[in-house]
Amino acid sequence: MLRCDIITIFPEFFREAFDHGIIRRARAAGLVETKAHDLRGWTSDKHRIVDDRPFGGGEGMVLKPEPIFAAVTELTGSARRESYSPQTRVVLLSPQGRVFTQERALDLSRNATQIILICGRYEGVDERVGEALVTDEISIGDYVLSGGEPAALVVIDAVVRLLPGALGNEDSVVNESFSEGRLGHPQYTRPPEFSGLSVPEVLLTGNHAEIARWRREAALRKTQRNRPDLLK
Ligand code: SAM
Repeated sequence: MLRCDIITIFPEFFREAFDHGIIRRARAAGLVETKAHDLRGWTSDKHRIVDDRPFGGGEGMVLKPEPIFAAVTELTGSARRESYSPQTRVVLLSPQGRVFTQERALDLSRNATQIILICGRYEGVDERVGEALVTDEISIGDYVLSGGEPAALVVIDAVVRLLPGALGNEDSVVNESFSEGRLGHPQYTRPPEFSGLSVPEVLLTGNHAEIARWRREAALRKTQRNRPDLLK
């Protein structure tokens, strides 16, 4: 069982997010448990303040360290990453992190039993959180979101579908994009003719060897066109 704890100032963002498709099924099957926690629950002042102005000046606000340290300490038992259980990962969603890939998703799905995801907001999170608590600083791509919540959803979705037993057909993971360093092959379904567009003849022949060859070549053509960097 994988446990995902999300630390956020917008827990309601996640209210229905895990009630669909593969994640819903994985939760029902007891493969994963998800919980969104309100960061303000770990404040101790009357106004439940989670942010403050940046030292050194500049625009915007920064998420304060104290509530995040309190949250992670309660959830892991420690305020230092060296003391976590080896299967615990504390993820900080950040455009300054290493970019998330299928390989990193696979690593988390195979090696973690607890993932804590810290969602930043405003100008980001006090750097001491990253220095002491975070095991994985993850960016979901080279663009800036207004908060870490959509990024946390992306990470959880990619990891949960790789948990053994989460997908109906485990072959889907083997033949899909990034599993062999290239994109997946194009897919077609019925009808064979639609609006003057036809399905490649070979896919209708039932010749499995020919179909496998066509798929391999089509996948390579698409990778060359859209993601030549993967073929290097
Ligand atoms: N000032 C920060 C910077 O220049 O790197 C950007 C802060 S951003 C407006 C607010 C929060 O959104 C971040 O703390 C992070 O949690 C989240 N975020 C933004 N872009 C992200 C990305 N590409 N991947 C993951 N999280 C992201």
